[in-house]
Amino acid sequence: MTAIHWSKAKEQIRQLVAQPRFGLFSDLDGTLAPIAPTPEAAAITPGNRQHLQDLAAELPLVALISGRRAASLQAKVGLPGLVYVGNHGLEQWLDGKVVGLPQAAAHRPALEQAHAAIQAILPPGAVAEDKGLTLSIHYRQTKDPREFMLTRAVEIHNIARQHGLVLFTGKMVLEVRPPVEVDKGTAFSELALENKLTAALFLGDDISDLSALETATKLRSQGIAAYGVGVQSEEAPPEILQQADYVADGVADVEELLGFVLMARKASST
Ligand SMILES: [Mg+2]
Repeated sequence: MTAIHWSKAKEQIRQLVAQPRFGLFSDLDGTLAPIAPTPEAAAITPGNRQHLQDLAAELPLVALISGRRAASLQAKVGLPGLVYVGNHGLEQWLDGKVVGLPQAAAHRPALEQAHAAIQAILPPGAVAEDKGLTLSIHYRQTKDPREFMLTRAVEIHNIARQHGLVLFTGKMVLEVRPPVEVDKGTAFSELALENKLTAALFLGDDISDLSALETATKLRSQGIAAYGVGVQSEEAPPEILQQADYVADGVADVEELLGFVLMARKASST
């Protein structure tokens, strides 16, 4: 299946958005915020922040689901009234506090040991970011990122496995996670059901968003009109566009899409 551009499906999207229990879900980096040289340098565009703020006032649920720590995600966006899910579903920011899954926290000692072992083999430019429940190895700033993947990824995979942890890949990042069956897809599904949504849109751009795009299909089989938007970029993995229902052409086009969603919602409630 190849996804169509969202602007070719305005009527379908309008119908979703008009449902009283419609919820919006989105990734941050590469979706609402352009990819930056480092995670700290990334920033949500002013247009996307404004749309989220306006949508939070109109919708029963606006949730951000990211690989970042929940606190970092909340700090990057800083809006009240949103649900902030971090570490790929392993934790949530709730009223100024971060609540993590205990089964993930149990692997913290193993994660620290793996961190030390990985740190010892990292070349210049690669950074291991301790995210509490997970570890991200950013290699965008290495001299040759392709070479890094060819030479170091297997070693890092082995270290993760030796410590009972699991390795995932993303855009110029390797992620070490606890072996807990939680991902963006399960987070999406739980929030949709908890909030009794009847329709939803999920937006994402990277490998870790695939589980949520797949979840959209599963939710539809359960009677919830959930659809996935894949955000296109030079670095976008091809699977994203295969799994998505609709496509947006980068962060600027996501602004257009959110603007349309907002307009459609307002039109439906008057
Ligand atoms: Mg992303």
